[in-house]
Amino acid sequence: MIIGCPKEIKPQEFRVGMTPNAAGEAVAHGHRVLIETGAGKGAGFEDSDYTDAGAEIAATAADVFSTADMIVKVKEPQAGERRMLREGQVLFTYLHLAPDPEQTRDLIASGATCIAYETVTDDRGGLPLLAPMSEVAGRLAPQVGAWTLQKANGGRGVLMGGVPGVGPARVLVIGGGVVGTHAARIAAGMGADVTVLDRSLARLRYLDDVFGQQFKTSYASAGNTIELARAADMIVGAVLIPGAAAPKLISRAQLSELKPGAALVDVAIDQGGCFETSRATTHQDPVYDVDDIMHYCVANMPGAVARTSTIALGNATMPFMLALADKGWKQACLDDPHLLDGLNVHAGQLTYFAVGKALGIDV
Ligand code: NAD
Repeated sequence: MIIGCPKEIKPQEFRVGMTPNAAGEAVAHGHRVLIETGAGKGAGFEDSDYTDAGAEIAATAADVFSTADMIVKVKEPQAGERRMLREGQVLFTYLHLAPDPEQTRDLIASGATCIAYETVTDDRGGLPLLAPMSEVAGRLAPQVGAWTLQKANGGRGVLMGGVPGVGPARVLVIGGGVVGTHAARIAAGMGADVTVLDRSLARLRYLDDVFGQQFKTSYASAGNTIELARAADMIVGAVLIPGAAAPKLISRAQLSELKPGAALVDVAIDQGGCFETSRATTHQDPVYDVDDIMHYCVANMPGAVARTSTIALGNATMPFMLALADKGWKQACLDDPHLLDGLNVHAGQLTYFAVGKALGIDV
């Protein structure tokens, strides 16, 4: 099979769909890999890294799209890319179709087979191709929160780990899933005094079993949430209710009860955010102030560490990409129901129920 990887063209997207390692594995499996020139640059990969791995370099995206049997990307195809997709071609990337009727229509019209990273599942009911980005965003949250806490950035001027004789920062993590667990681990590793809140007792038990004394856990009642928030220097928003907007857990009125200069890092901003005063920001201008509380609300946090994110995503997508290339999409999906869960569009038909329901399209 010929596997093609174009350069990402969505603004501020520096990741790339295939690492040189992934390209090398595909070549070792007997496939041809075509990478658009410069595709890896934003993640720190040169064209020569790909050719050393046995891949070929294409001059334009059009060359990649017209030649490849399967396109491997990161972000959903943009309008110009969608026009280059063709019947029978496989597209393997993040799609997020439910809020995007225009893209959905174009993919149906293309006749291509479109497999979405975000709906591929695993044995434990998890989403293995979303998890790496939650891990990245979770681990990044205390890092950006620590920066936000610095005085020059509008924060309280509190050091995460304190120093001998001065106590550490208090960090409250709301939501103890993938993002929250990784945020808590890093914040605790920086020396902060960390508490994780969740509504799932099973999850709190798991965190307590695995992490013991590294951080505390508490049940996420409204009363506990505001009490712990009042004492916090940093609050990380990491809740998710699948398929729904994030619940608002701290209201605008409650901001006056928080410590002046406290940092709110709302990782859940891609689902609308879990603080009433959250609005999405960008890496160029990530932080804003409401009532003396500093808000960091970047919707694509993993983009800040494009190299780590690209490699983490590549590790997770590689086995699926190889199965699709080795067996063809149909046999690969027949053999693996979790990969089949990723199938969103095929041969002019929407094939994913939740997207059809959201957009009112027959599945
Ligand atoms: P997850 O499903 O692993 O964890 C969510 C947790 O929130 C669960 O443990 C759940 O029990 C808990 N929860 C739900 N409602 C709650 C409530 N009211 N109070 C306390 N806890 C509650 O999800 P995740 O992968 O950790 O993702 C968390 C959020 O981060 C999602 O909105 C996700 O889209 C977002 N995210 C954002 C970025 C970014 O760049 N901003 C990157 C990755 C993920």
